[in-house]
Amino acid sequence: MNLNILVLPGDGIGTEVTGEAVKVLRVVAAKWGHQLTIREGLLGGVAIHKTGTPFPEETERLSLEADAVLMGAVGLPEFDEAPPSQRPEIGLLKIRQTMGVYANLRPVRSYKALLDSSPLKNHLVDGVDMIIVRELTGGLYYGTPRGITGSGLEERGTNTMTYTRAEIDRVTRMAFELARKRRKKLTSVDKSNVLETSQLWRKVVIEVSKEYNDIALDHILVDNCAMQLVLNPKRFDVVLTENMFGDILSDEGAVLAGSIGMLPSASIGAKKANGAWTGLYEPVHGSAPDIAGQNKANPFGAIGSVAAMLEYSFGLGEEAAAVNRAMEQVLNSGHVTADLRPAGTPATTEQTGEAVCQAI
Ligand code: NAD
Repeated sequence: MNLNILVLPGDGIGTEVTGEAVKVLRVVAAKWGHQLTIREGLLGGVAIHKTGTPFPEETERLSLEADAVLMGAVGLPEFDEAPPSQRPEIGLLKIRQTMGVYANLRPVRSYKALLDSSPLKNHLVDGVDMIIVRELTGGLYYGTPRGITGSGLEERGTNTMTYTRAEIDRVTRMAFELARKRRKKLTSVDKSNVLETSQLWRKVVIEVSKEYNDIALDHILVDNCAMQLVLNPKRFDVVLTENMFGDILSDEGAVLAGSIGMLPSASIGAKKANGAWTGLYEPVHGSAPDIAGQNKANPFGAIGSVAAMLEYSFGLGEEAAAVNRAMEQVLNSGHVTADLRPAGTPATTEQTGEAVCQAI
């Protein structure tokens, strides 16, 4: 298969972790005989320095030409006081818009070697394996009218939560298809006891479910879901929800894994002719200025993002599973980065990436 990938390392530890993730991609391509074409582009603070804008036209063009995009992280402390349009993070919002990615997928799984790093008791977190599917381009964050009007005691802030049937339908289908490849269980999260958007959400999910009779569907109110994620996280397989609920629940899910450096994510859009999804893959963490340039960052979030890319954008399940197995093997070896609090001398970013390549 031809794998045509754009890499946007970005800022801080973004360059370090994507470096290791690309090494893993090269090993996979060599082992399974895929043709790998990697281009590199500018995004975020580094792009502002070199071109004056966080999302240069060249990057826009390259992102539309690529089969999939691997991103590191954006953000530099020197831009903390800059106006919003001149901040590196704008690059992130713009590339998501450009690529039309409407669902954010966050796999959350526990690793035996990291059980003690989780804030939950071992027996609660051991065996957790879920994926949160968050609608990414609708709902409260984008709805109009919005803004602050009036003055004095009449000053008013307004946001609008709104969803169309089409927006709910497409993300629901994506979630059902993912469920089909997993344990065939989908939980839809809403607030249908109070919100009309949630009532429409539930109605559309039920209608779409009729085309997926092999999947067990249940519904849960968002407040109860927040509670169940810490009381009984193993009950979840695929969790489907709207934008703001997903924003909050996915961060709650994130802590189950033990370290932010472990977490991959995928933002996915339209299906291509070959059945694969357009995708933007990135670790959940930021540019971590406090450890940038020190060869200390945990590259597993970025390497896990490569596994997600192989699976969702290229349909290469065997290769993705091999990358995940290799990461688990390295974790079990105990020679891991400092954030995972290993017993002996911590491994560097490069040593960790190298160990994953060897294990594959
Ligand atoms: P952060 O995720 O960069 O760091 C939070 C803490 O986690 C830090 O102590 C850091 O050292 C640690 N950490 C993060 N990733 C790690 C890894 N892979 N290995 C080991 N330790 C890791 O969040 P922050 O400090 O709030 O933000 C720093 C910058 O990143 C800001 O400019 C912010 O806007 C940006 N940011 C970008 C993204 C993104 O690009 N998707 C996401 C979040 C924050």
